[in-house]
Amino acid sequence: MKRSYIREILDAINENTISFAGGLPNEDLFPLKQLKKASKKVFKQKNSLQYSKSQGLDSLREKIANFYTNIYALPTTKEEILITTGSQQAFDIILKSLHANNLVVESPSYIGALSAFKILKKDIKDFKTIEQLENIINKDEIFYCVSDYQNPSTYTYTKKQREKIANILEKKDAFLIEDAAYSLLNFQGKIKKPICKFYSEKSYHLGTFSKIVAPGLRVGWIRANKELIGNILAVKESLDLHTSTFNQMLLDAYLEENNIFKHINKNAKNYKKRMNYMADCMEKYLPNFQFKRPKGGMFIYGKFNNIEDSMALAKKALEQNVAFVPAEVFYFDEKKSNEARFNFTNCDFEKTKEGIKILAKLTK
Ligand code: PMP
Repeated sequence: MKRSYIREILDAINENTISFAGGLPNEDLFPLKQLKKASKKVFKQKNSLQYSKSQGLDSLREKIANFYTNIYALPTTKEEILITTGSQQAFDIILKSLHANNLVVESPSYIGALSAFKILKKDIKDFKTIEQLENIINKDEIFYCVSDYQNPSTYTYTKKQREKIANILEKKDAFLIEDAAYSLLNFQGKIKKPICKFYSEKSYHLGTFSKIVAPGLRVGWIRANKELIGNILAVKESLDLHTSTFNQMLLDAYLEENNIFKHINKNAKNYKKRMNYMADCMEKYLPNFQFKRPKGGMFIYGKFNNIEDSMALAKKALEQNVAFVPAEVFYFDEKKSNEARFNFTNCDFEKTKEGIKILAKLTK
């Protein structure tokens, strides 16, 4: 088994590295003061250190269900929510419950999902156009996608495309895993309706507090109908019994006392500035890198016109203490690529400029 290339880069990074590699939220934006206040309240409750329900804390699930009802206009009850240890765990839970099923993934696709799928030895097919999906997906197979600000491509499906995907999956009686890791982190204040709004029967919608509060808490969730939740509960139990009681109670207390959407909007504004700064630097110093400015999320994705293999460039760049992620790791067949992903949320402005200038020199 191979480790994720990104986690290997993260290991190689030191205090001198200018890193555009990991998808790390900016630590200065973590709501530390508010979490500290909430933690005092939680520590007063002895059961915060006790075992708890596998499906997750009732009051936290209720609040997440309310997000769906109010933000996505998708009426949801707490019985349709299962708390996971980060949304990464959701891949394992769902795939183990659907053990015989093959997968269709976007190309490129989220590396963490690909590694979970590969370890579980699923047959993976990639798709490039929605029209093609109809021809390659079969009954009970699984379509995995990130519907907003995809990691890495930053692509966001239009409403028409969402409806079309839903129609195809319904017609083919296939499963949907819709990963919404970045859906709430948008720069325009507009939240799109998820694909599962148009096809709820065999769909799992994955959410996480990682990108909107703090990833170290490792709290995410799956939204699915009661029957599917019932089927996956045994797998969740087998993996870790339940997600950290303390961290769930901490988030619950935080959500009780704070308006999370105010916090998300503040983060999105900050990230938009960082994205525009990085994009300006790229246009000025790295004109051979072609990309579109994303409307949300944490990455700029594009391709180099003047090089063929972004992995070779990434290796050279790392020697000069600049890290980014070459796209071949996002393709399930690891084909050579001139594409690359740059994270803009976690690097200050001066360092961003310096890093882009170093890449400009290396690609001349
Ligand atoms: N899905 C996507 C698309 C991601 O980018 C990530 C994190 N990089 C995850 C899922 C996993 O997030 P977490 O386990 O922290 O919730």
